[in-house]
Amino acid sequence: MRSVRIWARLLGIKRAVIEDVSFDEESQALVVSVRPRKKAKRRCGVCGRRCPLYDQGGGRRRWRVPDLGVTRCYLEADAPRVHCPEHGVVVAQVPWARHGAGHSYAFDDMVAWLATHTSKSAVCQLMRITWRTVGNIITRVVAAAQQQRDPLDGLRRIGIDEVSYKRGHRYLTIVVDHDSGRLVWAAPGRDRKTLQRFFDLLGKERCAQITDVTADGADWIAEVVADRCPNATLSVDPFHVVSWATDALDQVRREVWNAARKSGQKARARELKGARFALWKNPEHLTKRQRATLAQIANTNRPLYRAYLLKEQLRQVFHLPPGQAMALLDRWLAWARRCRLKPFVDLAKTVKAHLAGIRAAVTRGLSNGRVESVNTKIRLLTRVAFGFRSPQALIALAMLDLGGFCPPLPGRT
Ligand SMILES: [Zn+2]
Repeated sequence: MRSVRIWARLLGIKRAVIEDVSFDEESQALVVSVRPRKKAKRRCGVCGRRCPLYDQGGGRRRWRVPDLGVTRCYLEADAPRVHCPEHGVVVAQVPWARHGAGHSYAFDDMVAWLATHTSKSAVCQLMRITWRTVGNIITRVVAAAQQQRDPLDGLRRIGIDEVSYKRGHRYLTIVVDHDSGRLVWAAPGRDRKTLQRFFDLLGKERCAQITDVTADGADWIAEVVADRCPNATLSVDPFHVVSWATDALDQVRREVWNAARKSGQKARARELKGARFALWKNPEHLTKRQRATLAQIANTNRPLYRAYLLKEQLRQVFHLPPGQAMALLDRWLAWARRCRLKPFVDLAKTVKAHLAGIRAAVTRGLSNGRVESVNTKIRLLTRVAFGFRSPQALIALAMLDLGGFCPPLPGRT
């Protein structure tokens, strides 16, 4: 094997000719001079079409490639400009890097793989780049991968949710495929406009193929779905319905706790504060002590215990076969309406308003469980993404990890 071929193989570059290899003392790096093969020359950087040469551009340029051994390494080449009939005067395409990138394909892919599999500081130290650069790299890696495989193809059953980032001040709307469990789309914002952009991308034909949508019961989601997906049934996610009941229960607990405190019943107030987790937990997961706490409440605090039973019965609805579930829900509604606990009287109204969506959830057996798990993972990623300049980089990180877009390590298949 001739040494130039060995070099090309080491660097993982194709359709290029190695001209020279030298060591640059100033930057303490190996510099490999290259040029595109004849067939790869004079192509538009954007579309790849063969075009007439415009000028020599800004002269020699460098691209980082993965370190060779223990040494930093660059490719160096001319960066002429071409005149594309569609894109005007642009820097010519190079076969080793994406348009506008200062790093090779192999370098980009390695960063994307590491960002998905290791810690923030490991990627930055190993690749000798800032976290902000990682953000730029993964954004372009994901954009390119989405050109190859459209994650919106073949969608039938989707879940829509929102997740907060930037300490809860900003939100992303996310869409998850129930069948693959993958994140397929995310964008900053949580309103009609944001969600409409998703359905715009999906297009009329693919919208018509959607059979099921699950969501948390938010009106803005329901309205857009009704408008755009003529063949879809909207299910209100059981997990959210139960969380409404948990919130109502907590309101009741706080009210009786405040009442106990104000009337000077210190021991009682303490007991109620400690009861929080026992009330929240599913009964099958209670510890012995928590069970005793609940028994105590049953004896001494009828309203709070009633609130607890109301929460539990509503949760039970989603564990029954469809026919029994809806009958139980009817009984629950009748009970909640007359229970004399305001948070539950209000909840009965909310449940009534979402009855069609809840019935759909019960009969179609779809829960937002997968969406919730993606949501939880994104919330963890938002902490990792801290320091990225734009939410696009956070979305790219999520798409790599949860959308199935992480590339293999360079040189492996
Ligand atoms: Zn072009």
